[in-house]
Amino acid sequence: NNNEWQAAFFVIEQLEQAGFEAVIVGGAVRDALLNRPAHDVDVATNALPEEVKSVFSRTVDIGIQHGTVLVIVPAGPVEVTTYRTDGEYTDHRRPEKVQFVRSLQEDLQRRDFTMNAIAMRRDGSIVDYYGGRQDIEKHIIRAVGDAPNRFAEDALRMLRAIRFSAQLDFTIEANTLTAIQQKAADLAFIAKERIKAELDKLWVGQTVFGGLQKLEESGLTAYLIGDFHAAHWLEFHTQDKRLGWAYFALLQGTDWRGVLLDYRLSNKEMAFVKSVLSAYDALKGGWTNTHYFMYTEQELEAARYFAQLTQLDAPIPRLSVRELQAMLPIKQKQELVVNGADLLKWSGKKGGPWVKEALEDMLTAILHHELQNDRQQIRNWLERHYF
Ligand code: ATP
Ligand code: MG
Repeated sequence: NNNEWQAAFFVIEQLEQAGFEAVIVGGAVRDALLNRPAHDVDVATNALPEEVKSVFSRTVDIGIQHGTVLVIVPAGPVEVTTYRTDGEYTDHRRPEKVQFVRSLQEDLQRRDFTMNAIAMRRDGSIVDYYGGRQDIEKHIIRAVGDAPNRFAEDALRMLRAIRFSAQLDFTIEANTLTAIQQKAADLAFIAKERIKAELDKLWVGQTVFGGLQKLEESGLTAYLIGDFHAAHWLEFHTQDKRLGWAYFALLQGTDWRGVLLDYRLSNKEMAFVKSVLSAYDALKGGWTNTHYFMYTEQELEAARYFAQLTQLDAPIPRLSVRELQAMLPIKQKQELVVNGADLLKWSGKKGGPWVKEALEDMLTAILHHELQNDRQQIRNWLERHYF
């Protein structure tokens, strides 16, 4: 983390030595003023992208059309973006074309909220044209300039306001909130991927409940797919965005899959959610030994957490998956001393669905300590139940 600041300051120094101006901007400055750890320390500069590239030996074009170059210095990679104003807005979305400018003030003016429109120079001094520092002190989220216009330009900003309110536990300033209420319907213009990225951050916020209350109050819920009813989230807190999606899925009922796919969750994220919901159902339906095999520690942990949040009144195993497995007579299916071929041979019957069923019943009996994992005993047991 400190490395990121060092890398950014080093990049600024190099740009200054080449005759350019450069500052740290955005989330990192805001978080520093809040004494919160920052993840990305971004640099803005009056140097054009080609000029930035000429100053450093190692660069990667990561968003050249938006003026962003990744500069790689010994302390790490730094995103360097040329001062810009956003071009014409069409369809209430982020503009496709941007215009590079030489003035920091213009660059700060295009940013969404006052707390995000503060710059820091290499000497630590702050550039704050829009009262961002005061708003940070008062824990206020306020649009830069005319709020309705800013939301009309890019409707995602409305959801960003809500996301920041959850992330930082800040209040949304009255005019800014009113503007969101006015423009809420414009959220329909925004790509699902961008909405998902904001929800990812909302789930790991300091107060998801507070954020969702704002979401309801702002009228934005009407333009989002799924049920965002705040009341269910009163106690919710996590560091893992996947848990947010899993809990959200749980609250959607049977159609959770369609709702989550609408937000373009990845296959990996979907698989995690599915497993957690299945573990939750297993807890709800009375957990049996067989279930020890099926979930990871994390999934069981999540399901247990949801059981607590939903006040599920079912007996819930308190041990970890590992401890639970340690109590089992066998640790994996492969340890079974009997297989399908044995069943066919012993029974003299034709193969079919019964084989799989018999093997599963057999495994369950062994896991429940009703049967030993021993060929002769299993054969006797099978003769009684299946042959
Ligand atoms: P986080 O700490 O959650 O990453 P952040 O402030 O860094 O918060 P980013 O989405 O990483 O948020 O954006 C970086 C900066 O770019 C913001 O601080 C803001 O100045 C500007 N910005 C980002 N998205 C928008 C937008 N849609 N409209 C205007 N400015 C934006
Ligand atoms: Mg950021």
